[in-house]
Amino acid sequence: MSKLVKGFLITLLVLFSVVIFAEEPILIGFSMDNLRLERWQKDRDIFVDVAEKLGAKVIVQSANSDDALQLSQAENMIARGVDVLVVLPHNGKVMGSIVKEAHENGVPVIAYDRLLMDCDLDYYVTFNLIKVGEYQARYLVERKPEGNYFLLGGAPTDNNAYLFREGQMNILQPYIDSGKIKIVGDQWAKDWLPQEALKIIENALTATKNQIDAIVASNDSTAGGAIEALKEQGLAGKVLISGQDADLAACQRIVEGLQTMTVYKPIKDIATQAAIMAVSLAKGIHVITNSTVNNGFKDVPTFFLEPIPVDKSNIVDTVIKDGFHTLEEVYKNVPKSEWPEVK
Ligand code: BGC
Repeated sequence: MSKLVKGFLITLLVLFSVVIFAEEPILIGFSMDNLRLERWQKDRDIFVDVAEKLGAKVIVQSANSDDALQLSQAENMIARGVDVLVVLPHNGKVMGSIVKEAHENGVPVIAYDRLLMDCDLDYYVTFNLIKVGEYQARYLVERKPEGNYFLLGGAPTDNNAYLFREGQMNILQPYIDSGKIKIVGDQWAKDWLPQEALKIIENALTATKNQIDAIVASNDSTAGGAIEALKEQGLAGKVLISGQDADLAACQRIVEGLQTMTVYKPIKDIATQAAIMAVSLAKGIHVITNSTVNNGFKDVPTFFLEPIPVDKSNIVDTVIKDGFHTLEEVYKNVPKSEWPEVK
C-alpha cells in the first residue's frame, strides 16, 4: 500500500471517529463558477454526498460565470458562518480577494480545480493540468506529425486554460520549430462556450479554405462547438480534434468517430479529496497534499490527481468501467452489432 493511500485511510478513520463524537455539524460553503458543464454537476453531487457522509452540511452556490455575483455569494457564505470555504472560481484573479476576507473571519479556503491567484490560499486540489495539455497534443501529433494545426484555447479568465496550453506547447514546439507543423490560428473561447468555439472554427475554416488537419481543443464543450463547424463543411471525423472531461456527448462523438480523443479526469477522486480536505480542515486534522503550486503570492499546498487520455480503444476500460457513463449511454448512436464486448 503506498504511503499516500495509507495517509488517506488514516485521515478517513480519524475523520469518522471525530464525526461520531462531534456535537455540531460543520458547515462548508462551495462557491462554484457555473453548473453548465456536465462535469460541474457531478463535482457538486459527489462533493456534497461525501461531505454529508462525513457529517458536514454543505451550502452550494453557482454564480453563472458572473464575477461580482460569485464574490457576493462567497461573502454571504462567510457571513452565514461556514467553517471552510471551497471555491471553484470563474476568474481566479478576481476571486483571490475572497481569501483575505475569509481569513479575517477565521475561515480557511480551498481552491477547487482552478487556482485562486495572488492570495494567501490555504489549499488547492486539482488534476495535473499541464499533463492534460500534453496528452491532448501528443495524441494528435502521434497521428499527424505534419500539417496545419489550429489552437483552440479555453476561457482567458481561467488560469487552467493557460496551463493546458503550456502542456500543449511542450509537445508541439519542436514540430513547429522544425517546420513540420504550422499553426494556422490561435484563439481562446470566452467562458469555454461551444457557440464561441463554433464561430472561431467557422471563421478559421473560411480563412484557411478548409486547410486544417488538426484542432487542439482544450475541452469537450469547445470541441463540441468546433465539430459543429466541421460538420457544416463535411469535415467532421476527418480533422483530428482533442478534448477534455469525458463529457457524455464527447464520449458519444468519440465512438461515432467525430472526435478523436478526450482526457478523462475522474471527478469522483477530486470531489472526494476536496470534501475530505474541507472536513479535515474544519476539524483541525492534518490535511494531506502531494505537491505545491505557486499562485503569485506563495507556494500553495496542493493535491494533484492524475488525468487519463481516452479514445475509442480504451473508453470501455476507463470511463465505462469506472461507471462514469454506461456502455448504453456512450454507444447510444452506434448500431448494437458494433458495440464492444464488456467483460
Ligand atoms: C476545467 C475543465 C473544464 C473547463 C470548462 C477548466 O477549468 O479544468 O475541466 O472543461 O474549465 O469549464
